[in-house]
Amino acid sequence: MTKTVPADVMSRLKAILGEGGWSTDPARLAPKLLEWRDRWTGVTPLLVLPKTTAEVSAVVGICGQAGIAITPQGGNTGLVGGQIPQGEILLSTERMRAIRDLDAFDDVIVAEAGLPLAAVHEAALRVQRRFPLGLASEGSATVGGVVSTNAGGTAVLRFGPTRDLVLGLEAVLPNGEIWNGLKRLRKDNTGYDLKQLLIGAEGTLGVVTAASLKLFPLPASKATAMVGLANPQAAINLLVQAKEAAGSGVEAFELMGRRGLDFVLKNIPDQRDPLTGTHPWYVLIELAAGTPGAAETAMERLLSKALESGLIADAVVAQTVTQAKALWSLRENQSPGQKPEGATWKHDVSVPVSQVATFIDRASEAMLAFAPGCRITAFGHVGDGNIHYDVIRPDGGEDAVHSAKREAGSRIVHDIVADLGGSISAEHGLGTMKTDEARRYKSPVEIAALTAIRQSLDPQRIMNPRVLF
Ligand SMILES: Cc1cc2nc3c(=O)[nH]c(=O)nc-3n(C[C@H](O)[C@H](O)[C@H](O)COP(=O)(O)OP(=O)(O)OC[C@H]3O[C@@H](n4cnc5c(N)ncnc54)[C@H](O)[C@@H]3O)c2cc1C
Repeated sequence: MTKTVPADVMSRLKAILGEGGWSTDPARLAPKLLEWRDRWTGVTPLLVLPKTTAEVSAVVGICGQAGIAITPQGGNTGLVGGQIPQGEILLSTERMRAIRDLDAFDDVIVAEAGLPLAAVHEAALRVQRRFPLGLASEGSATVGGVVSTNAGGTAVLRFGPTRDLVLGLEAVLPNGEIWNGLKRLRKDNTGYDLKQLLIGAEGTLGVVTAASLKLFPLPASKATAMVGLANPQAAINLLVQAKEAAGSGVEAFELMGRRGLDFVLKNIPDQRDPLTGTHPWYVLIELAAGTPGAAETAMERLLSKALESGLIADAVVAQTVTQAKALWSLRENQSPGQKPEGATWKHDVSVPVSQVATFIDRASEAMLAFAPGCRITAFGHVGDGNIHYDVIRPDGGEDAVHSAKREAGSRIVHDIVADLGGSISAEHGLGTMKTDEARRYKSPVEIAALTAIRQSLDPQRIMNPRVLF
């Protein structure tokens, strides 16, 4: 694949995009070429900033004819390196931010790819609706990014991942053609579903330019609590009780260990331990209901029963929105809180919910044997069986020494996940980071079928060539 762009191709691209539509300025490029944890730095001969779907189509068409590869990028919050170019043209959606429609009758918002997720939330609120996908990165993560990574987040338990929230897509396919699939149908059973192929394709099957997204009514009541408990199995037992108490109203069920909480309290300003004693594990629970007061009543019932039976040791219920935000801040700062602690092997894995405790026990025993003194934090969307299992270098240890063992350490964790019937990427995707690793766990039959699909849509492999199979 060509990495230098011939002068005539460069001129054609610049002419189509016009002033403000492209850049080679190192200062303009710099933030787009660095991943937020400083893990990957990229190179690109040209940043293109199309403003319309027609411009995306022209760019992809010209690149296709010239055999030049493209890496699409939204908010650059991806955690597996797929948005960082290594010689490809970098196509940013930052100038495609329009809301094309907002409709409370069809419960749909049609938004362009570069619109940040937080702006989707704000727009939905204007018509008394909500878009339930919530990520700590939502101020920067874009519609095109969450669709292309099939992002998960905190409310998957109730609403499913992005895949369940998309009604239609508009995309430019690798041959430069525009596919307008911006439907808003709840039922459309007409054979293969192209939109589902593009969701989670990580930019390999084309550029997503707009999406029709499902909106939901606002809950009439909401209750947020943090509980302290002895171990992950107690958390899973509590989840079963929460579902019994609130049915589908369990919106979030997030596990955190004491060590992760300590890192947040130590390294992030203005955080407070909400419980008086210390506990080995914590769960943040959010319940919602369609009738006023119902969520609060369900939470009270759940917590008093759990306290009485000894399933949980302590609990605090947020009395105000500010208190609820303070509890969420402890959860959302789990990653930033551990960053100053040094080199970390990060794992975004899932196992069947019933196997969460077994996974944490087995992985922790194996890690402490493999990397004595390592500091483990396990947290995440445990209601979906999704654990962010992070192994930080020993206190006072050297980053380089720890990083050198990353591949072998992660292999041990992934093998345990596979043994328990889990996935080595629960919600972040494969990107450039995990594609090779995923080959070990997918069957050759599946990889051959997936490769054939890609080959038929992108025979030159110009779209994000280093990502996926
Ligand atoms: C603090 C923090 C918390 C996070 N929490 C979560 C979480 O809870 N759950 C979760 O799932 N993820 C989480 N993430 C990861 C990340 O925010 C998501 O993967 C998000 O969906 C990426 O969106 P983006 O716009 O930043 O995409 P980018 O990072 O720009 O791109 C990600 C991938 O999508 C492709 N892509 C982007 N836009 C397009 C497009 N328009 N068309 C085709 N391909 C495209 C890129 O090529 C790349 O492969 C978190 C990240 C951070 C930094």
